[in-house]
Amino acid sequence: MPSKPLPVVKISRRGAKRLQESHVWVYRSDIASADGVAPGTAVGVTDERGKFLGTALYSGASQIAIRMISRHAVNDVAGLLRERIQAAISYRERVVRDTEAYRVIFSEGDFLPGLIVDRYNDLLSLQVLTQAMDAEAVREVIVSELSERLKPASIAERVDPRIRELEQLPARPSGVIQGEKSNTIFSINGVRFNYEALEGQKTGAFLDQRENYAAAARYAQGEALDVFCYQGGFALHLAQSCSKVAGVDSSRPALEVADRNAGLNGREIEWIEANAFDLLRDYADAGRRYDTIVLDPPAFAKSKSNLETALRGYKELNLRALKMLRPGGFLVTCCCSYHVAQAQFLDVVRDSARDVHRNLRIVENRRQAKDHPILLNVPETEYLKCVIAYVSD
Ligand code: SAH
Repeated sequence: MPSKPLPVVKISRRGAKRLQESHVWVYRSDIASADGVAPGTAVGVTDERGKFLGTALYSGASQIAIRMISRHAVNDVAGLLRERIQAAISYRERVVRDTEAYRVIFSEGDFLPGLIVDRYNDLLSLQVLTQAMDAEAVREVIVSELSERLKPASIAERVDPRIRELEQLPARPSGVIQGEKSNTIFSINGVRFNYEALEGQKTGAFLDQRENYAAAARYAQGEALDVFCYQGGFALHLAQSCSKVAGVDSSRPALEVADRNAGLNGREIEWIEANAFDLLRDYADAGRRYDTIVLDPPAFAKSKSNLETALRGYKELNLRALKMLRPGGFLVTCCCSYHVAQAQFLDVVRDSARDVHRNLRIVENRRQAKDHPILLNVPETEYLKCVIAYVSD
């Protein structure tokens, strides 16, 4: 990458104020001038008077036009990226335990906006979310640094076509971009999982729940139901201490992997292909009872505009689950919508408990695992809620 001075983007007073408050994004509406700046390049950022504010990655398409990477002037962008990747790896060495799978790079949370990298034992899975991270020179830096530091057998890229479209990037397929291996086995808290780099949702697993699996397993007992079980993350952990476990999901491919995962761990789990809303209604109406229920639905609130509908969805699920929980049982209820704040989610759980005349003791009020760092000045990095509650009459 060139070491000549970076092109300059000027931002409005409002944009500058946001940065001074230590946020890291500037929206397109706050760009005062970006004359001649090529999409997807590193830029210097100044206010309208020309005062230097830092170095950023620029997108010519996204509503988030600028993502800051440093408060300082940066001459060697490649060098900075390498440092950031090393720092992300060092952080995991300090805080990640008991797992062969974890997020190595969490975009803004690791000061590498637009880049996600997950490790599944000897495989790495990479996702590029912005024009700047897609530039060929940047890709080379990322892949070479990751290879050198983590020595994976191979690196796969997972492409989200919708994101490439939004960033006005040419379509490209998912695939293995270095090495050949595309499947492996990894363990989390001693539980084993099959991994296919080019299949499944997200980059393959929901690694943000890793620590919550272990927490849920500490309390789980008796008969358990894992609702929205995907490939069995919670169910397999619950099976360590429960007498009977069933998992529910609407995705047959996910359940097929879940079943193979159960086999890998020598567990018997009943997998049910169903719409969770219908199943919970039928089971609750039929008077079924459980000692442990996990609810881990997909994000219902994709934006602020459908928040009300989303909250109704969360309420319905929690209400039905609480109805079926025996006194002395545990509810593990999750919400991965960034747009639903922690307090709002607790309100939903409280209202549900009241409606079915149950009392809840909050045993743990949890977030995403530490390898998905929450950056205090970037509220968007905090999204997952996982409440564990003890149920009584
Ligand atoms: N608990 C899982 C992650 C769940 S992600 C884990 O820890 O790995 C959400 C899951 O909900 C996905 O597997 C998706 O297939 C499933 N899903 C989405 N809508 C559903 C519905 N209406 N009924 C049942 N499952 C649904």
